[in-house]
Amino acid sequence: MKIKEIHIYSHILPVVDGPYRIASSTVSSLDSTLIKIVADNGLFGWGETCPVGPTYQPQHAGGARAALEEMAAGLIGANPLQPVVLRRTMDGLLNGHPYAKAAIDIAAYDIMGKHYGARVADLLGGVVTERVPSYYASGVGEPDEIARIAAERAAEGYPRMQVKVGNRPVEIDIAVVRKVWERIGGRMRLAVDGNRSLTTRDTLRLSRECLDIPFILEQPCNTLEEIKAIRRQLHHGVYLDESGVDLSTVLRAVGEGLCDGFGMKVTRIGGLQQMAAFRDICEARSMPHTCDDAWGGDVIAAACTHIGATIQPRLNEGVWLAQPYIEGHYDPENGVAIEGGHIELPRGPGLGVIPDESVFGTPVASFG
Ligand SMILES: [Mg+2]
Repeated sequence: MKIKEIHIYSHILPVVDGPYRIASSTVSSLDSTLIKIVADNGLFGWGETCPVGPTYQPQHAGGARAALEEMAAGLIGANPLQPVVLRRTMDGLLNGHPYAKAAIDIAAYDIMGKHYGARVADLLGGVVTERVPSYYASGVGEPDEIARIAAERAAEGYPRMQVKVGNRPVEIDIAVVRKVWERIGGRMRLAVDGNRSLTTRDTLRLSRECLDIPFILEQPCNTLEEIKAIRRQLHHGVYLDESGVDLSTVLRAVGEGLCDGFGMKVTRIGGLQQMAAFRDICEARSMPHTCDDAWGGDVIAAACTHIGATIQPRLNEGVWLAQPYIEGHYDPENGVAIEGGHIELPRGPGLGVIPDESVFGTPVASFG
């Protein structure tokens, strides 16, 4: 089988009840990049990559499309059934930019699943659960508001809550964490995500003043070096998110004992093939982790859910989806959604979602 056509789309996703506020930025709408790959036998697959604004990570929407346009012509004729070879081909066309390559990788898995009559989760190793746990991420907010949201999500059945903190006096962040735990204590696991924004001083204080609350600290500081400097003084487990940029960094973090787990993004690490390798490294060292993406609609949501369905349950920290913040679905019938804090794994072959193309309008670029 050969790739015959690649079409690239831009699609704006407004934030429902927005804006969404994290330490590094406030976003009101997100620019998602979708790709459709058509094979020479008529099978097609969809991929998606959607950075949550240009400051969360070095990735940005225009960069994704520029990278895809740089590679697309060279990918015509490549075999979508060989994900490792396909990744090497992409690396031979463009250095870096794994978040753009991820969209191609996801579309190739979608085609592969349709070709073999299998779900992507089966291609990635096998389905452990049809009902994949999710978690809810609040934006940065005031103590009473975030505690109210947390209590609502606990009642809905979410097994885990992530509270965003940072970019303000740490006293407010401490008050948020204490108030949230007062409301949900014991009903949900808790993560406190600084999104790189806390100083080592404030991270130490947050941990020291919340000794009695069993949360994990997610990416509190900007760099691995800062986290390493205070790691042994912290009273809470530390997960890396933004710093986990590739498998090499993951190996370093695991090998040097710099963290206790990861928040991982499918697109940041380069797609499902790399994500499966990451999952296996984590399992070898009993590292819990999430399987998320930064933002995006049904296509990336399905990809995250498929890899999430393959994780050993004791290490599965959940699949975060932007879906609660998005109006409607690309696929009105099989759209991926969180219900009762969990996500049903799509049933159909491949990703199990087939977007209504008319939603995306005319491609911004087509190749082949
Ligand atoms: Mg995070």
